[in-house]
Amino acid sequence: MKLAAYHHGDTVRTGIVVNDRLIDTGLASSMIDLIAHWPAMKDNLAAKAAAGGGVPLASVKLAAPIERPGKIWAIGLNYADHIAESKMETPQRQVWFTKAQTSINGPFDPIQIARGTATADYEVELVAVIGKRGKHIPAAQAADYVFGYCVGNDVTERMWQHAGPQWSLGKSFDTHAPIGPWLTTADEVGDPHALNLSCSVNGEPRQQSNTRHLVFNLWQQIEHLSTAMTLEPGDLIFTGTPGGVGAAMDPRQFLKPGDVVRCEVERLGHIEGTMVAEP
Ligand code: ZN
Repeated sequence: MKLAAYHHGDTVRTGIVVNDRLIDTGLASSMIDLIAHWPAMKDNLAAKAAAGGGVPLASVKLAAPIERPGKIWAIGLNYADHIAESKMETPQRQVWFTKAQTSINGPFDPIQIARGTATADYEVELVAVIGKRGKHIPAAQAADYVFGYCVGNDVTERMWQHAGPQWSLGKSFDTHAPIGPWLTTADEVGDPHALNLSCSVNGEPRQQSNTRHLVFNLWQQIEHLSTAMTLEPGDLIFTGTPGGVGAAMDPRQFLKPGDVVRCEVERLGHIEGTMVAEP
């Protein structure tokens, strides 16, 4: 199933995407509540999807499928080609940073270049959405804890990223975590380690890879993170970006106002945002 969040007047509602239509769930609950109660909800929603109706998907403005995730964790240096272009060593241990909740952005909303900065960069990533609470989750059971997936752009302010020993501030600017276009449940995605992903800027291909090239796969990532903390429904895991970022180009190419950044992951759809100066 594909679950979207969309703007309706002053509120955000949830809906089911069926081909080019959107069927409202009829529920007042947030996406995180829906995920947390999924076993009790899913038959009802599947029946709604099968009944059809709804409105054209193109007639609604989609919102970030999860507006305020409890946690956003992202792994660095997790594709061999990106490690090489970053002139780094392949890490022996997983390298993690957080992105602030407030960096979440809608799938087609403008992405801000913050005041006084000029080194905004893109990173297409497969994003996993946690489905149920868990601590000390073994890699062999990690798939049971994944609700679904979406496309993410781990937008990064490179000067701020490298201004200190850890990266979280440079990864946490407002609007720098666009996700969407909706959540696709894990059963519809199958193996998350066999998905093509790509990023283009103004139609020019920049990143092109497949999640089979992850250094640490998603199951290892969940095992590692849940050693430290309880993972909860709606938590997001950005699983790493492949080579081709602007900071590694010669000469370096950072995003400018008016640039259109499109990120796509096989089976999950695409997100697309126009860069704008922070108002
Ligand atoms: Zn990243």
